Amino acid sequence: MPSTVYFSNMRTSKEGNLFDKIGKLMEKSGLAGFVSSGDLVAVKIHFGEKGNHAFVRPIFIRRVVEEIKKYGGLPFLTDSSTLYPGERKNAVAALTCAVENGFAYAVVGAPLIMCDGLRGQSAVDVPIAGEIFDSVKIASEIIEADSLVAVSHFKCHELTGFGGALKNLGMGCSSRDGKMQQHSTLAPVVSDALCTACGACLKACVHGAIVVTSEGARIDPDLCVGCGRCVSFCPHKAVTVQWNEAASELMKKMAEYAHGTVLGKEKSSLFLNFITQVSPACDCYGHADAPIVNDIGVCASTDPVALDQACADLVNAAPGNRNTALKSGFEPGEDKFRGVYPAIDWTIQLDHAEKLGLGTRKYTLVTI
Ligand code: SF4
Ligand code: SF4
Repeated sequence: MPSTVYFSNMRTSKEGNLFDKIGKLMEKSGLAGFVSSGDLVAVKIHFGEKGNHAFVRPIFIRRVVEEIKKYGGLPFLTDSSTLYPGERKNAVAALTCAVENGFAYAVVGAPLIMCDGLRGQSAVDVPIAGEIFDSVKIASEIIEADSLVAVSHFKCHELTGFGGALKNLGMGCSSRDGKMQQHSTLAPVVSDALCTACGACLKACVHGAIVVTSEGARIDPDLCVGCGRCVSFCPHKAVTVQWNEAASELMKKMAEYAHGTVLGKEKSSLFLNFITQVSPACDCYGHADAPIVNDIGVCASTDPVALDQACADLVNAAPGNRNTALKSGFEPGEDKFRGVYPAIDWTIQLDHAEKLGLGTRKYTLVTI
């Protein structure tokens, strides 16, 4: 049976602005049915890397917050630390970056709480019946929350073709070691050129996998369990992840993580995708390149698979923008994601998520 995806285009009038349309999308999707008075509602967003400007704007998130409060819910905005040593590698850095990007209480009307603790290690092992994993490491505050509203920026992605709800749920709601599991099959490596032999990484590794001599640090791959802590501990960015996982496997792993995030919250989760500023790459970069299509609108559904499928179809149905990272597929109906990343089969994430029972690729689009 197809799932319903509600859609609002970007057209507005004095009878209704985009904020009102966001409220309507949430109401139509059945928010009232799964937020009760006093519920702690995790609003999973991407805080955006410093220098990026394509992430969903805080003023839109404020409306999401207001809608949840209408039903007595207690919303908090949440995101997880990054695996790489950027501006959001731990809770302090990430929350500082979030406020600098405009996610301050005065703007969004809700507190910011990291879902994976101070250093991205706070997680719950969730058993799943996956093809690759039999359990996944989901950020603890996502599990603790009564309900989940995942607000995702729908755009292209260099590893998964596009990034939408599945990416926000799978990668964005996993702990640091969960992200490592998805991205890499190898232990991190130390750059001799950057390592000063300061020893700070020794504190990070409770598995005794790091040895530091006067010549620098070394990681023993036989002892390393792939937790990724040392990456964020190194003050010189000398420890790096070996991003070796193939795109096809990464997408399957991500879908399995998304499945674990939603397990137990099937009746208390809502997903919104903003098809705005459809940049060619992830919001984790400290820049955002020109959009490959014009702004399309906002979609909402209780089925994240149907939602991402609908958004992908809407992007592909649009005319592509010239003088952007889009290299082919400019005509309406042509594949825009392949037009940016020709080698990536973005359908794998949708297929695998559907196979796991997370949702269906079949949908009915209802325009509000
Ligand atoms: S913390 Fe970084 S610079 Fe210091 S010893 Fe470890 S790898 Fe080298
Ligand atoms: S990834 Fe974890 S286990 Fe491996 S060396 Fe780094 S801190 Fe140690």
